[in-house]
Amino acid sequence: MQSTFRRIPRDGEKKDKPSPLPRHVASRGRRKSVERVSPIPFGIGFVKPHNYWEVVRTAWENKRNPLFTWRILRDGVCDGCALGTTGMRDFTMKGIHLCTVRLNLLPLNTMGPLDVRVLDDVEALRSVSSKDLRALGRLPYPMFRRRGDPGFHRISWDEALGIAARRIRAARPDRIAFFVTSRGMTNESYYVANKVARFLGTNHIDNSSRPCHSPSTTGLKETIGVAASTCSYTDWIGSDLIVFFGSDVPNNQPVTTKYLYYAKEQGTKIAVVNPMREPGLERYWVPSVPTSALFGTRFADAFFPVHTGGDIAFINGVLKHMIEKGWINSAFVANHTNGFEALQAAIERQSWEELERQSGVRRQAMFDFAQMYSRARTAVFVWSMGITHHRFGVDNVKAIVNLGLAGGIVGRIKCGLMPIRGHSGVQGGSEMGANPRDFGLGFPVDEQNADRFQGIWGFRPPTTHGMTAVGMIDAAHAGGLDVLYMAGGNFLETLPEPEYVREALARVPLRIHQDIVLTSAMLVDPAYAVLLFPAQTRYEQRGGGTQTSTERRVYFSPEVPGRRIGEARAEWEIFIQLGERVRPEASHLIHFEDGAGVRAEIAKAVPTYDGIQNLREKGDAFQYGGPRLCEGGTFPTPDGRARFTVVLPPDLDIPDGQFLLSTRRGKQFNSMIQGEVDPLLGAGRRDVLMGQEDAAVLHLHEGDAVLLSNELGSYRGRLRFAPIRPRNVQIYWPEGNVLIRRGIVDPACEMPDYNALVRIEPVTASERRP
Ligand code: SF4
Repeated sequence: MQSTFRRIPRDGEKKDKPSPLPRHVASRGRRKSVERVSPIPFGIGFVKPHNYWEVVRTAWENKRNPLFTWRILRDGVCDGCALGTTGMRDFTMKGIHLCTVRLNLLPLNTMGPLDVRVLDDVEALRSVSSKDLRALGRLPYPMFRRRGDPGFHRISWDEALGIAARRIRAARPDRIAFFVTSRGMTNESYYVANKVARFLGTNHIDNSSRPCHSPSTTGLKETIGVAASTCSYTDWIGSDLIVFFGSDVPNNQPVTTKYLYYAKEQGTKIAVVNPMREPGLERYWVPSVPTSALFGTRFADAFFPVHTGGDIAFINGVLKHMIEKGWINSAFVANHTNGFEALQAAIERQSWEELERQSGVRRQAMFDFAQMYSRARTAVFVWSMGITHHRFGVDNVKAIVNLGLAGGIVGRIKCGLMPIRGHSGVQGGSEMGANPRDFGLGFPVDEQNADRFQGIWGFRPPTTHGMTAVGMIDAAHAGGLDVLYMAGGNFLETLPEPEYVREALARVPLRIHQDIVLTSAMLVDPAYAVLLFPAQTRYEQRGGGTQTSTERRVYFSPEVPGRRIGEARAEWEIFIQLGERVRPEASHLIHFEDGAGVRAEIAKAVPTYDGIQNLREKGDAFQYGGPRLCEGGTFPTPDGRARFTVVLPPDLDIPDGQFLLSTRRGKQFNSMIQGEVDPLLGAGRRDVLMGQEDAAVLHLHEGDAVLLSNELGSYRGRLRFAPIRPRNVQIYWPEGNVLIRRGIVDPACEMPDYNALVRIEPVTASERRP
């Protein structure tokens, strides 16, 4: 694969003569006028984020260590979402790249150590919210708690590693599992975790892309041969059309609003396929663009309010129109794809009545979309959790691929398929092999690849598929795990049925939690013991580290000088030290002196990442595969062609008296809640979002206390009107996990289905009384 290496000039270096216009605009000529939201400045009277106030507030919260904070912002790669930065710049636009998500996460990187005496009494901590647990401070020392102990006590690293090593040595390798999450995790840490897990004889290693974009990885790989975005963010700007499927980028990747502003200046049209008419995609006040900050910018040109899970029916309906009208890109389909005839035949058998019922939108709306798409010479499709969080998430992704291939929008400039990522490190997690079914990007677990990695590593990895995150929790619940090592993350707050997860965690004899702060999962009583391993942030780790963004750009984040926390260690070093204690006789096989050594081996083990060995300073980055994959319609599949897939709409009939519930994110970063009010909707964490039409049928009014229930449990909240399609409701995640049934997963990738059928009724005055 071709890669592009670029470096943003460092301070003091000669830069290109600055253009008065952003980079992409300067290269493409005239700007178009962008539609404003309101003549009243600063969106007064609208529900919207108050970004300037947020900046002041977070600056105050980060005041304790201003120089260190500034260095992290100036030199580090953002550890928020996967858009990617180097310092406060990026490769898409000129100007500052910064948002309040990053500022809100900064205290995790700058705060001081917690007083470990708070861990003396676990019971007292159980009533503390996760937000307040984090605010207690950074974990400074290894801590240990045996079953029956009231709390944790401090131990040395030597003791901690010794306890863990003894337990691992005594366990069968198939009873050991690793989960590696991704907020600040570097590629180096993922890679070493992968190697050490295999060194210890297990393929039970997974990462947080499982409940995130695992359907995208599977769906893309099986259709176009690559499991990543085929295009760059620059392809958004000046594309004729961007479509967001189940994605709310203003909330999750806020700086995309700036990209969208520049796209609108270039005349890009924006369409949204989503049950909720997301206000942030309808209009936004981009704080760093003066005219937008003052008067707002209208983004979406068209909304298509499908049912939750109605995307396949909608897309099949769009394709049906395109086939009937002769709008398929026949040359692209004939020259670069297989399987279109079978898809066409399947779609022709689907009636309009069926497609309307299952999608939730009229045939005319599907026609409007088909026409908009067919008139666009270029288009980019972007999707996220609204597409993947289903038991048919892989089919959803394949339907989007079908639509993209039918229009020939892969492998061309200003075109592409982009599963946009939420965590900064998540793209690299599976690519580095922290995955039960791959040793690394392009190398599935099998005998042949085990031979290959034996040649690189000097030991042979196991060749049976490991367990996914979902499988690990089921195994733990069934008493099938002796050691569960969790580097970051919190299954209690991310997987369905929290009580089941709690039981599962409690049944594991030894749990190891490697983290920078306290989490609620650490407080679960163990079957034998719990170990806490204090980790460094990516900015503190010796020799820096790298991260891969959604657009496949691998960024170097340097080590930032400044204060360090107690005895916290680099995440990749902890994995190595544990592996060395378990198998001291073979320790040389997994030893690395520094991050540069890890990067040198990654370049050999995962050739797609060739170039990572050259990253060593701030601003160093390369984009594996170049700006676009599958260029010219050549796909990395055995025959060089992409595959259409026959995907049938799932049966989503909503029984009378019930509603289809999905979960959403508010002012939060993944499961880390930063505020009680979602600034884009003005909704509180316990609000139940419902359309006015449905509320009228139930004789409910805004503000009414309501009870949501199903066979799993119940959830009390307050009704709030929202622009959501009838019979669909939303509550916030992870609170809503109490209504989400475990065990309903996509069979191809074990993505949990985060939706449920619920009944809704008013909470009467008598029920409200204690
Ligand atoms: S948009 Fe994402 S990458 Fe950019 S500053 Fe915000 S959190 Fe960081």
